[in-house]
Amino acid sequence: MAGGTGDRPKLVVIGGGIAGSYIAKTLQFHANLTLIDPKEYLEIPWASLRGMVEPSFAERSLIQHKDYLIASRLIASNAVDIRDSEVLTAEGRLVPYDYLVIATGHGDQLPKARAERLKQYQAENEKIKAAQSILIVGGGPTGVELAGEIAVDFPEKKITLVHNGYRLLEFLGPKASKKALDWLISKHVEVKLEQTVNLEDVAEGNKVYKTSSGEIIKADCHFLCTGKPLGSSWLKNTILRDSLDDAGSLVVDEYMRVKGRKNIFAIGDITNIKEMKQGHLAKKQASTAAKNLKLLMSGGNESKMLAYKMSSTTKAIVSLGRHDAVAQFHLTTMIGLIPGLIKSKDLFVGKTRKELDIDSFVRH
Ligand SMILES: Cc1cc2nc3c(=O)[nH]c(=O)nc-3n(C[C@H](O)[C@H](O)[C@H](O)COP(=O)(O)OP(=O)(O)OC[C@H]3O[C@@H](n4cnc5c(N)ncnc54)[C@H](O)[C@@H]3O)c2cc1C
Repeated sequence: MAGGTGDRPKLVVIGGGIAGSYIAKTLQFHANLTLIDPKEYLEIPWASLRGMVEPSFAERSLIQHKDYLIASRLIASNAVDIRDSEVLTAEGRLVPYDYLVIATGHGDQLPKARAERLKQYQAENEKIKAAQSILIVGGGPTGVELAGEIAVDFPEKKITLVHNGYRLLEFLGPKASKKALDWLISKHVEVKLEQTVNLEDVAEGNKVYKTSSGEIIKADCHFLCTGKPLGSSWLKNTILRDSLDDAGSLVVDEYMRVKGRKNIFAIGDITNIKEMKQGHLAKKQASTAAKNLKLLMSGGNESKMLAYKMSSTTKAIVSLGRHDAVAQFHLTTMIGLIPGLIKSKDLFVGKTRKELDIDSFVRH
């Protein structure tokens, strides 16, 4: 593989979420590295709901990429095409690469500047504060965590959560679903299962929502929490079109390389690895890919590459406000203060900042 400018190979990382930021930080001194992300900052996804009830919390959970990328280039744009040795960005820039990492996880339309995102949190907070009744559509982790945040910080608000599935948190087992449901009911959240709300039917300012079963819900405002699509639709017209499976995930081999490609890796939620879509696993995948890239970029033999060990456990914690959480571990499922102690107070923000060395060299 050809070397980059100077004696270091050109490495391009597409996507500055959890997986992309971890691998970029790890490899920044080993390559001539460029991170392409439409945002100038990393948003810690599992901390975003707290920012809606406490906007100042987002000051720590939105991390400027430049605060952990000391020795690399950031292009704040979407990647729109991949060629054999170049990436094309939405602004028409061609970015050459020797090695490429795709970490575009789940797509979302977020502002480019951190200051704009902070303003959005402020506006969402004002919307919550001004409402007496709130409708949350979606009972996955985002909807349940948001309901938990509002129920704990604003116990006087009437919250209704509508979910199309027959149980909440379907990515976890039924025990966790039942515990989360009981907890929400204990906080006076009204949960309606196996129903949908067509938000297109709701005119601006009209506070009446109709569910698929014809029930009427009155709410001053609503939040749509139905999950984001995979960030892979842009790959459909690229050289990687045949590497996508039916679900739109990128098929990778045991070394985290896109199947059939020698110099293109994929990590995080975008991959077809059959394990839970979790940030801690995205980091584990980033670590395996980083080791393999270091080997290849230093001219090592690919037979020495490290195989990724898939996680067999289905471990996850869903926070329920500031103190409680429901957790599914290998052998048990529990709810309350103990899992809450692990996640709910700081939502792993301190841990993430520490892993990225943020507070050692913050440059604002
Ligand atoms: C409410 C909630 C709670 C969660 N709680 C936990 C938890 O407690 N623990 C845990 O481990 N996991 C948790 N998760 C899961 C975790 O957030 C994800 O698994 C993790 O964020 C995946 O990281 P990623 O980098 O693969 O993708 P993402 O975090 O989705 O990042 C993708 C990045 O790619 C960028 N991008 C997209 N398209 C393009 C493009 N065309 N060009 C350039 N950039 C692009 C996006 O802007 C984004 O920055 C939670 C998720 C949610 C929603």
